[in-house]
Formats: sequence, C-alpha cells, structure tokens
Amino acid sequence: MTNTNQYDVIIVGGSYAGLSAAMALGRLLKSVLILDSGLPCNRQTPHSHNFITQDGQTPSEIARKAKEQILAYQTVSFYQGIAISGKKTSIGFEITTASHDTFSSKKLIFATGIKDIMPDIKEIEACWGISVIHCPFCHGYEFKELKTAILANSDKAVHVASLVGNLTKDITILTNGSANFTLEQREKLARNHIAIVETPIAAVQHEKGHLESVLLKDNSQLDFQAMYAAVTFEQHCTIPKDLGCELTETGYIKVDAFQKTSIDGVYACGDNTNMFRSVSAAVASGSMAGAMVVKELSEEVF
Ligand SMILES: Cc1cc2nc3c(=O)[nH]c(=O)nc-3n(C[C@H](O)[C@H](O)[C@H](O)COP(=O)(O)OP(=O)(O)OC[C@H]3O[C@@H](n4cnc5c(N)ncnc54)[C@H](O)[C@@H]3O)c2cc1C
Repeated sequence: MTNTNQYDVIIVGGSYAGLSAAMALGRLLKSVLILDSGLPCNRQTPHSHNFITQDGQTPSEIARKAKEQILAYQTVSFYQGIAISGKKTSIGFEITTASHDTFSSKKLIFATGIKDIMPDIKEIEACWGISVIHCPFCHGYEFKELKTAILANSDKAVHVASLVGNLTKDITILTNGSANFTLEQREKLARNHIAIVETPIAAVQHEKGHLESVLLKDNSQLDFQAMYAAVTFEQHCTIPKDLGCELTETGYIKVDAFQKTSIDGVYACGDNTNMFRSVSAAVASGSMAGAMVVKELSEEVF
C-alpha cells in the first residue's frame, strides 16, 4: 500500500482487464492504484465459461480471487468508486473521483469495459446474461439442442446463425423489423432450415430471467429457451475520449498491438478496445498493457 496520492500508474476499471494489468505492474514493483466502480458487464450472468481453470465459476468469484492475488503485491492499492474526470499534468495525469478524491500518476490505463444498450423490448434486460446471451462460446453449450432465437439482422444474424448451428438445429432469426438479407444469405438460411421472423417484438416472457417466449407486436407468441442478442454499446467511461483518445469507427478505444492509445502515456485494454469479448481476451490484453507500461516507465529512467 502507498500512502500518497501519487502513483506510477492509475488503472481505471478493476475487473478482469484492469486486474490483469495490475498484476504485471505489481510484480515489477510499480506503484499502482486501481479505481473501480464495481459494475462489470457480466454481473448478471450466473456462470462464466470458456476461460481455462475457471470454467463454470461465477463471474464475481473469478474477480474476487484475482483481486485477492493482486492486492498481495504491496505496491498495488484498490479504491472503490467512480472516476469522473481526468486531465494531463506536467508529470503525467490526474484523475478525480465522484467523491472528490484526486490521484496523480505518470501513466494511465483504462480498463473500463463497455455498457450494453438493450433494445426497446420489455423485460429483455432481466434475461440478459441468463438466457438472453451475447456469445455462443460463453454460453451456447448450456443451451445446446434447445429452441433458440437470434435477435439480429443482415450479416451479423448470418454469422451468429452459422456458429449457433453447431449447437442446435432449432433456430429462428428475429429481425425485429424488416429483414435485410442478400439472396445468397436467404438461400443459406433456408438450406439450414432457419426461419426469419420480421414482426417487431413487444416483450420477452420469462421466469426469473429464464426465457419462455417472445411476444410479437401482432400479439402472436413464439416459444424459445434461449436468445442470442446482438445489442449495441457505448463506452462505460468517457474520460479516455475527454483526454483525446481516438475511437474506432465502431466505438472502441483505438489501440496499437501493445494496447497504447493515440495519447502518449495512456493505454487501454479489455472490452473497451476489442470486439472479441471474453474474460480470457480481457486478461490477455490487460497483461499486455501492464507489461508495456512497465517497459515505458523503465526506459524513461534507465
Ligand atoms: C452478459 C454477459 C455474459 C458474459 N459471459 C462470459 C462468459 O461466460 N465467459 C467469458 O469469457 N466472457 C463472458 N462475457 C464477456 C466478459 O464478461 C467481458 O469480456 C469481460 O468482463 C471484459 O472485462 P473488462 O475488464 O474489459 O470489462 P468489465 O468486466 O466490464 O469491467 C469494467 C470495469 O470498469 C469499471 N469502470 C467503468 N468505468 C469506470 C469509471 N469511470 N471509474 C471506475 N470504474 C469504472 C466497471 O465498474 C467495471 O468494474 C460476458 C459478457 C456479458 C455482457
């Protein structure tokens, strides 16, 4: 633990990516403050899959264990709270929290994740991560051979359908409005016995998050046990953008192969930089960001 408000590195976001970055930094004795508001994107999902050694573990237990291991490094500290602003200073950066605490560092790492934006469908949020899922690799196995909907349109729907086709042959694409497929895509979907329903959706019906049916706006009802939903997102934290970090066309923080943003001294890792959304990818990019910040700090004084 350090007793000052000055650190080598502040990591904003203390979930999988941020904790992984902190481990690389802590092991090289860098002073690190992790700021975390406690809202990881997978918090509603009952079990996390597809991360070796932790398959089927609860998301919070993976993070708890990681935090315990990382805080064993004496130069790493953790602050529970939300960072609301950041600015460049003569020696690096300053971050201020909602409780008006201010911390300074030479480098910044943003591991702030993304915020999923639910479509305007009643009750869908209650099922998010439980039976309305984002990824066949994370949760598809648990829903194999079941009656499955894919809430998506055009290329995205075809892409998800091709993957989900490994798990179940009972697939319906819900485009929630006019379908937008090429003739070739329609033929491909028909060949794989995948129905397309264009009627807008009013609500999902569920029992404690477990999907039972989809209610369409024409009052008809379709029964499903699982739904893959391609939802939109926004950055969880606006500080990187406020500091001038460039975003990609699709809304991710632009980073190079070493997780460096377009602003000197600022790195980003995890979901906020990458559409390949998984705990393992977040951990890998966090580890890279942590190591690259150590390298940069070391070269500055060596
Ligand atoms: C519903 C769902 C289920 C999933 N299931 C799986 C699965 O089974 N297996 C798998 O491998 N992947 C799964 N994923 C993907 C996985 O959860 C993410 O890839 C992973 O959480 C990304 O880690 P991260 O650290 O980048 O972001 P997050 O885990 O989202 O964490 C970001 C952290 O930053 C904090 N933060 C944001 N802004 C601020 C701020 N201004 N100040 C302080 N703190 C801030 C947040 O509170 C949060 O704690 C799932 C995703 C979702 C949405």
